[in-house]
Amino acid sequence: MRYQYCPRCGEKLKDREIGDEGLVPYCGTCGRPWFDTFSTCVIVLVVDENNEAALLRQDYISSRYHNLVSGYMKPGETAEGCSVREVEEEIGVRLERLEFAGTYWFGRKDMLMVGFFGYGKKTALTLSEEVESAVWVPVKEALSMVHPKGSVSYALVEKYLKEKRLVS
Ligand SMILES: [Zn+2]
Repeated sequence: MRYQYCPRCGEKLKDREIGDEGLVPYCGTCGRPWFDTFSTCVIVLVVDENNEAALLRQDYISSRYHNLVSGYMKPGETAEGCSVREVEEEIGVRLERLEFAGTYWFGRKDMLMVGFFGYGKKTALTLSEEVESAVWVPVKEALSMVHPKGSVSYALVEKYLKEKRLVS
């Protein structure tokens, strides 16, 4: 999001040249630039000891496809801490290890998604109210169940399969 008014004092911002950043909306009263903002979320491919992935159905996201665990980061939280919290909240799995997978820009929602592979033991999934259902499926099968190619979920599952050499 590009600011038009100062979020602190409400003054209309004027573009100003800020070093290498180029033109940035600037508040003359507060004497500071306001850089564009976006949300930061985590997305976690949760995998158990049998190479099965936990996939969720969440009607508010899609009625057709399965999702991975994802959620908005809170101020002060690390991406790792947020991942552990969201996975436990949404499906009740306690992660034992996280592996950074990459970051992905989700332009439709103006969102930076920080991707992880999250490892935990297979347990019965206990769901939050945001989750309609969830299943463990072999990661190979997950690729055809999540949002199609081009989505962050797909990219994450595909990367896991390649890195773990589960596909050629
Ligand atoms: Zn201001």
